[in-house]
Amino acid sequence: MAIATVNPATGQIVRAFEPMAADGIETALARADAAFDKYRHTTFDRRAAWLRAAADLLERDLDRYAALMTLEMGKPVKQAIAEVQKCALVCRYYAERGAEFLADEAISTAATHSFISYQPIGAVLAVMPWNFPFWQVFRFAAPNLMAGNVGLLKHASNVPQCALAIADILREAGFPEGAFQTLLVGASQVEAILSDPRVKAATLTGSEPAGASLAAAAGKQIKKTVLELGGSDPFVVLASANLKAAAAKGTTARMLNSGQSCIAAKRFIVVEPVADEFQQLLVEQFARLQVGDPTLMSTDVGPLATASIMDELDAQVSATVAAGATILIGGKPDEHPGNYYPPTILCDIPPDTPAATEEFFGPVALLHRVPDFDAAMKLANATPLGLGASVWTGDYRERERAIAELDVGAVFVNELVKSDPRLPFGGTKRSGYGRELSREGIREFVNLKTIWIA
Ligand code: NAP
Repeated sequence: MAIATVNPATGQIVRAFEPMAADGIETALARADAAFDKYRHTTFDRRAAWLRAAADLLERDLDRYAALMTLEMGKPVKQAIAEVQKCALVCRYYAERGAEFLADEAISTAATHSFISYQPIGAVLAVMPWNFPFWQVFRFAAPNLMAGNVGLLKHASNVPQCALAIADILREAGFPEGAFQTLLVGASQVEAILSDPRVKAATLTGSEPAGASLAAAAGKQIKKTVLELGGSDPFVVLASANLKAAAAKGTTARMLNSGQSCIAAKRFIVVEPVADEFQQLLVEQFARLQVGDPTLMSTDVGPLATASIMDELDAQVSATVAAGATILIGGKPDEHPGNYYPPTILCDIPPDTPAATEEFFGPVALLHRVPDFDAAMKLANATPLGLGASVWTGDYRERERAIAELDVGAVFVNELVKSDPRLPFGGTKRSGYGRELSREGIREFVNLKTIWIA
């Protein structure tokens, strides 16, 4: 994919960039390596001050960064503003808690003193997606910079200006030259960068093929990876659920980022006794959504980020409908310029169709009816992915069983699945491994060193 800003609302190419050549990459790696030698010796207090300064800058220029995201990938601007605020929050969170998460941990043994020391490892490569172009990067950068690592960002090719803006923010916040750099490179250049001995580990958020490819390359070099990949999250509605609340939150959960979120509710699994009522409420909620210009504060659903995402979604819906599924609302892309796809609900989904087996990355809800709780759990787990699950119930026993039986990285009860700096975030099965955020996230890319003093 060319590295360029293409406005998803109009299809216009706004600005194109040349990918970095080999000599530029070499300079950046040398700079990162040199920076780490000094940066690793900076104090937690110093790093925390820089993170707080980054948070201040994000808040100061909130509107500018939100507009940049909306321009490059079409996120409705009110959601883009919330994303910038969340980035400031994660910076402040690690500024406040990072030192405590990485403090030495004494362990009583026969030694005079034995303990665990968490030490930085060096340059970590972050390969990031376009869907939360600021958040995905800050949730990597804040803990890693706090831990004393230096960051190299390979951002998605359709959000180069966001990538450059993030590096500028961290530089202006005071982080030393080379502590965080954006490399404008394509996916084909990633393996060579990862193979360089000055790069110690990598994290990738994105699709399964990209994750598998990065992990294979890292495996050859015995380098650690964290993978945050796709999701086909179930949204399970049980008989005792508050149906109105479930339909309202389910709509938000499906439509966040115009449906392009890994933790979006994608498969609505509803037990038969409440299925008719829930279906009607969900259709009503979808019909109320404002679809259109993402620069307007009133817009709920904007264009999809690229034309190919829209074409792929359209092909998935068409194939599922051709095989016998029913469209309850939506179902056809808009005729207008831009990558607009309407809020859509499919039901009567036959097995072996794209809707039964694939992730849908856009504003399309897949509604399944099941006879009872056991069937709901079985269907919820019948996917190779395992990121999150939302379960709606007023029944204590169902809640406890769902928590135990769902094979996912996070279960949210009577709430949509969301990330929160205080809670670990990550998946099971083909959704990836490792965790971001919280104490677990900051400990992913550190050397957990055992110390024994006789
Ligand atoms: P993608 O194509 O995998 O792109 C993500 C990043 O990986 C981009 O920077 C991309 O670069 C790069 N990339 C692609 N192929 C690569 C390869 N073979 N080697 C190294 N890097 C490679 O992902 P997407 O389709 O844009 O994003 C949507 C997917 O991400 C969905 O499946 C979604 O569920 C998942 N996602 C997961 C999370 C999570 O936290 N678990 C969060 C958000 C999204 P180019 O842009 O240059 O191709």
